[in-house]
Amino acid sequence: MALYTKQEALEYHSKGHKGKVEVVPIKPCKTQKHLSMAYSPGVAEACRAIHQDQSLVYEYTGRGNLVAVVSNGTAVLGLGNIGPHAGKPVMEGKGVLFKVFADVDVYDINLDCNDPDKLIEIVKSLEPTFGGINLEDIKAPECFYIEEKLKAMMDIPVFHDDQHGTAIISGAGLINALEISGKRVEDMKLVVSGAGASAIACTKFYLSLGIQKENVYMYDSKGLLHEGRKDLNETKKFFAQKKDVGSLGEGLKGADMFLGLSAAGTVSKDMVKGMGKNPIIYACANPDPEIPYPDAKEARPDAIMGTGRSDFPNQINNVLGFPFIFRGALDVQAKAINEEMKIAAAKALAALAKEPAPDYVCQAYGVKELKFGVDYVIPKPLDLRLIEWESTAVAQAAMDTGVARKPIADMEAYKKSLRE
Ligand code: NAP
Ligand code: MG
Repeated sequence: MALYTKQEALEYHSKGHKGKVEVVPIKPCKTQKHLSMAYSPGVAEACRAIHQDQSLVYEYTGRGNLVAVVSNGTAVLGLGNIGPHAGKPVMEGKGVLFKVFADVDVYDINLDCNDPDKLIEIVKSLEPTFGGINLEDIKAPECFYIEEKLKAMMDIPVFHDDQHGTAIISGAGLINALEISGKRVEDMKLVVSGAGASAIACTKFYLSLGIQKENVYMYDSKGLLHEGRKDLNETKKFFAQKKDVGSLGEGLKGADMFLGLSAAGTVSKDMVKGMGKNPIIYACANPDPEIPYPDAKEARPDAIMGTGRSDFPNQINNVLGFPFIFRGALDVQAKAINEEMKIAAAKALAALAKEPAPDYVCQAYGVKELKFGVDYVIPKPLDLRLIEWESTAVAQAAMDTGVARKPIADMEAYKKSLRE
């Protein structure tokens, strides 16, 4: 049952100050002296200092806590290519989550631009303003090219959340599911439904976690990706199997894991019945998964099952990642969010799920307890320990891999500051 009516949702957006965010000055501006420091002539002191030493932009402006959520509206939620105006409520909402969960400030930048090279040029030119770039809801395959180019060109983190957020959260779920099911990651047979932005990124991330590429069977809307197909783009070719093994149902026979990032209803009960022992089933199509949670559990009571939904266990929800990952990256003035930082985030989430959830979290979800096991492999978004666990892990990984411009000297003090 929906928690709100259509009218309520619209009013939520339009009541009072329109939209969901506003810009709030944080320095006093009540006297003539304040005024002359906030703007001319006193502001020139800050300008001159930065002009002499560019790194002081982090000291005298808000750049170090400011992220651009950049979209062209070509793949918005499950709504498709609805354009940059219609996508703006989503981007404002993303800004709200950044702020509420991790005190990161966001400007949402909605670009009327479908040309990847032009979009790259625009985003690159935003660099002086921001400490990081969160690319959002940009369609595949352009999103891969855009992110890759920008990462190479920019000296601040560039992170396409639809790709890597999902990869990190489901990757945390994978780490824990492996432990619970007693499977060896090197031996896992993984079947993926979908070969778009999130499926490709998740599967690549799983390779970083130890899954072997030859054990991956990836399907798009036309069937298995294999070398006999002439219609595959470069990204899909990377996952092409040598030979066709038939339908998704055939592929699932004996599989250890199913990852769904495609469309509702693509998997039947019979298909999951063919999977191996203690199967891991992450069916993430939104709002309706590839197979409904009750159906999958009925067919396979031994499954570890996750979906994108909040009304069933193990929700794979990106809000568990992006606010805290950027928090950690910004706090060390990271030049990038690299693979090691992503793995650190996934491991931190996996580790947190092993600690019983506090009472307030259980109460918020209307359950008596949340303890590590098949129904709790991923922490819940309302768990206030997330920031402390995940942001410190990301900051530490940035320091360890040499991308931190401002390493943290006292990690314990940093941890404590996040807790407060
Ligand atoms: P996308 O880039 O448009 O990719 C969708 C992929 O699914 C395409 O490769 C498409 O095939 C494939 N597909 C469509 N119908 C299919 C079918 N019947 N059988 C097999 N493959 C099929 O979309 P995306 O951004 O990756 O998102 C995909 C889905 O995952 C959406 O429902 C989205 O809401 C969900 N999602 C959930 C989470 C989460 O729960 N945290 C995160 C991200 C995405 P073609 O390549 O042949 O067109
Ligand atoms: Mg998105």
